[in-house]
Amino acid sequence: MVRKFRIENWHRKIVTKRTLLKALSFVDAHPDLRTPVLLMDKEKILENASLVGKTIPNSHVFYAVKANADKAVLSLLKDKEIGFEIASEGELDLLIDLNISPERIITSNPIKSVPFIQKAYHYGVRYFAFDSLTELRKLEKYAPGCEVYVRLAVPNEGSEWPLSKKFGVELDEAFILLQEAKKKNKVNPTGITFHVGSQCLNVYNWYIAIEKAKQLWQRCAEAGIELKMLNIGGGYPINYTRVAPDIKEVEAYISRFLKEKFSDKIEVFIEPGRAIVGDAGIMVARVLGKAVRNYENWLYLDVGVFNGLMESLGGIKYTYIPEEATHASSSYKKWTVAGPSCDSMDVIAKHVDLPEVDEGMLVLILSAGAYTVSYASEFNGFPIPEVILI
Ligand SMILES: *Cc1c(COP(=O)(O)O)cnc(C)c1O
Repeated sequence: MVRKFRIENWHRKIVTKRTLLKALSFVDAHPDLRTPVLLMDKEKILENASLVGKTIPNSHVFYAVKANADKAVLSLLKDKEIGFEIASEGELDLLIDLNISPERIITSNPIKSVPFIQKAYHYGVRYFAFDSLTELRKLEKYAPGCEVYVRLAVPNEGSEWPLSKKFGVELDEAFILLQEAKKKNKVNPTGITFHVGSQCLNVYNWYIAIEKAKQLWQRCAEAGIELKMLNIGGGYPINYTRVAPDIKEVEAYISRFLKEKFSDKIEVFIEPGRAIVGDAGIMVARVLGKAVRNYENWLYLDVGVFNGLMESLGGIKYTYIPEEATHASSSYKKWTVAGPSCDSMDVIAKHVDLPEVDEGMLVLILSAGAYTVSYASEFNGFPIPEVILI
């Protein structure tokens, strides 16, 4: 049986045709597919990985492992000339298991546990972020001689997943912290980092961040602290329900800003997460049931907020492609799409335009490769989607 999906022209602008076709033929080849499942297009991951940093001089790319820590995904990226950004012992263990050398690993989480610092340092990791005196003292004690970079607070307006309040310090404090590192001379103050917010749709955020970093860089130079590296974090957006600036467009802005503010000699670190794996992933879910409640059409899928689509709570909206019902009219309805659990928080989206679908049918959820399975829990006994590379 060949399943027919209701593919609209605009769907083809959200993910590449090849990714969609690969997912469709995988589904066709597996009539008894266990759902939910996350299909990851290998070629797309590799293509994304080779695009990032391409137009930024002297740049090094470190994949933010938290976006999708699946072993097969990591192992695919291992074979690329690409590094990894981690935050925990758990993520470090994954990389050690894959024999990824420590020179390819950095950690930009500004607050780290002591056992993690010790383990990373012992393994040979040498790049650590910080944004407080407490963290600096920990690094001096447990990672002597390492390279430290300070996290600056920068605007996150226009990012669909802001990160700015939890981490980062303002210019004056950042300067004091780097001075303090230099004074004690136990670790090397080597650079500056920031994060403009994830799924950043506002390129102006990079402009402000780079400008701020430049001011700090200059103050350091005047005080005899010679910085070498600027880590511009992640934040590159992908297409969910609309077309966002792609890697090339975003980097055209970033490299222009960098050229304006910095010399070519600085090293640039980039830490993309979402942009490497997000649009390579298509989630295949199944319709468990439907109902009309208070004049609203409810659609229940076997993947929801808890077992994969957690980001929908923060406002990420996905594109859904349902299987075509044979009897149905072609007219669209508004649906509230919910996950399988008994928790009322488990609602993925409201006011979604979809044609009629039946129980047991499949629904493709596009751009689901980042921050889905890595967030997922087995709450209420519903399985975390299996990740399959296609
Ligand atoms: C999460 C994170 C990233 C990746 O961000 P994306 O928006 O997924 O590109 C990069 N750096 C740090 C420090 C992060 O915490």
